[in-house]
Amino acid sequence: MPRAVVITGPSGVGKGTLIRSLRERMPDLQLSVSATTRRPRTGETQDEDYHFMSPEEFEQHVAAGHFVEHADYAGARYGTLRAELETRSAGGAPVVLEIEVQGARQVRRTMPEAVQVFIAPPSVEALRARLVGRGTDAPEQIEARLRTAEQELAAQDEFAHVVVNDRLEDAVDELVEIVRATTAAG
Ligand code: ADP
Ligand code: 5GP
Repeated sequence: MPRAVVITGPSGVGKGTLIRSLRERMPDLQLSVSATTRRPRTGETQDEDYHFMSPEEFEQHVAAGHFVEHADYAGARYGTLRAELETRSAGGAPVVLEIEVQGARQVRRTMPEAVQVFIAPPSVEALRARLVGRGTDAPEQIEARLRTAEQELAAQDEFAHVVVNDRLEDAVDELVEIVRATTAAG
């Protein structure tokens, strides 16, 4: 199984932003592209941001056992394909999985050696402000994400590493340190 780094935490906390900065600092890191039934947002590209697929196609992958983990989130399905992890890890570099908490729990069971990092917001108000400020989700989507966030925040103690994303540069530094220390990657 590949060396994997799971980055989890509520929607809008800054996972995507942090991972972009992490990969600038550690260019060898690979990013697992997830499958989802969610519609692409403006600017998102098929097979770069996600493997966008129909609910039928997603279900076929579930039935065939192709997912390492998968979960329902805010009205859509999301999952990590085993083949995706295998392709990304072929060069030997660690693979980053950006997934929500239910998926992170499944990975903890199936890939216990994977590094698990929970990204926490400085406050729930800051999380709401980031979701609104990002401007990508309709108000009802933002509310669904904030409702889920309450349960996700309550689960943070399950994770080996917790990084509070208050000042972005500090959070990136912490994340780089964790990945270096746990994966021996440059
Ligand atoms: P996620 O991938 O967890 O859903 P994003 O990376 O899309 O979150 O970040 C959500 C919004 O918050 C974006 O508009 C991003 O620019 C902003 N953001 C990320 N980190 C910080 C931070 N440390 N301080 C303020 N805003 C941030
Ligand atoms: P978004 O719709 O904002 O891109 O993602 C919503 C949530 O789904 C985020 O918390 C994101 O981390 C999570 N997610 C993305 N890909 C996967 C995946 O493959 N598996 C799981 N379990 N969650 C995912």
